Amino acid sequence: MAEIRLRNICKRWGSFVGVDNFDLTIADREFLVLLGPSGCGKTTTMRMIAGLEDPTDGEITIDGKVVNNLEPKDRDVAMVFQSYALYPNMNVYENIRFPLKVRGVDPSTHDEKVRRASAMVELDEFLHRKPAELSGGQRQRVALARAIVRQPNVFLMDEPLSNLDAKLRVSTRAQIKNLSHELAVTTIYVTHDQIEAMTLADRVVVMKNGIVQQVGSPTEIYDKPANTFVASFIGSPAMNLIEGQVQGGTFRADRTEISGLSVPDGAMSLGFRAEDASVVESGGQINAPIYTLELLGDATMVTVRIGGALVSVRAEKAYRAEIDDMVSIHVPHEICHLFDGSDGARIG
Ligand code: ATP
Repeated sequence: MAEIRLRNICKRWGSFVGVDNFDLTIADREFLVLLGPSGCGKTTTMRMIAGLEDPTDGEITIDGKVVNNLEPKDRDVAMVFQSYALYPNMNVYENIRFPLKVRGVDPSTHDEKVRRASAMVELDEFLHRKPAELSGGQRQRVALARAIVRQPNVFLMDEPLSNLDAKLRVSTRAQIKNLSHELAVTTIYVTHDQIEAMTLADRVVVMKNGIVQQVGSPTEIYDKPANTFVASFIGSPAMNLIEGQVQGGTFRADRTEISGLSVPDGAMSLGFRAEDASVVESGGQINAPIYTLELLGDATMVTVRIGGALVSVRAEKAYRAEIDDMVSIHVPHEICHLFDGSDGARIG
């Protein structure tokens, strides 16, 4: 069991606020991802849970017990970092065994535990190698095995895939997902990569400037972003956002007119996803010259410029046109997201 409660956690350095009023309960065995751009406070939040950083305000409990004053080693959490932090003079076996030695675990159980952990991350064949004799992906797996071997209640992972190349990242990501399911351990995972967040998380916390923007399942965050920041951070490509005015249920902007909206009048940002709109012969709600065309293999991405914004739509694989040709885009009002023109908060 490990339910983690963060009650109005703040971290300030002088007048700078690194994390502001973070308030969340993380369920036992949940896989929670902290997502946001560089400097938004993800690592600081995780370091406070680990005990490596003291909150300026607020309370952290693990299974109902306040841990604010507990040393990291007494919190029963295991961390995996972006830099693997392996001991270069120890071989893989010794690296994985190290946490058991430090914690005074019964030596007669070490061998079985090390072998089980290394088998889980498919390192059985490499136990006698030194870290320098391993690839980046293998080193990261040693770091994972070293976290698993202790059977902690909580896993904290800080960008564990960021040093791996694209292909290894995908396979190691799948392995982490599978491991977390198998081990059934509460996991908090930090990343700035929205695809990692969407594929791994039970729930995602999107952060910006130390402030939580939205907490929800990957589907909730994708389908109902709470504001323009979340809308533009999630999805590939990001949601199209056009600034304009709504009057009498009709949104108007440069080359754009979409009616049938049930939102109040005023300045708004209208959002829609590239895959929800389509290219039509004529009569679409957006009519503009093509800015660029990209062949994606399974589709063609057509991009136009509306005001200062680039707006993309997925067209058929076989769609062909030239830059500067006029294109008509069908944007039914049901697929539109509307955000307040001043603070970016979701309206509908
Ligand atoms: P990244 O993805 O780049 O690791 P992050 O979201 O994990 O970013 P944090 O490392 O949590 O960001 O940092 C949050 C903010 O707090 C940053 O602006 C950072 O510069 C600042 N910060 C972190 N540690 C300190 C410190 N010891 N003193 C002052 N400011 C700090």
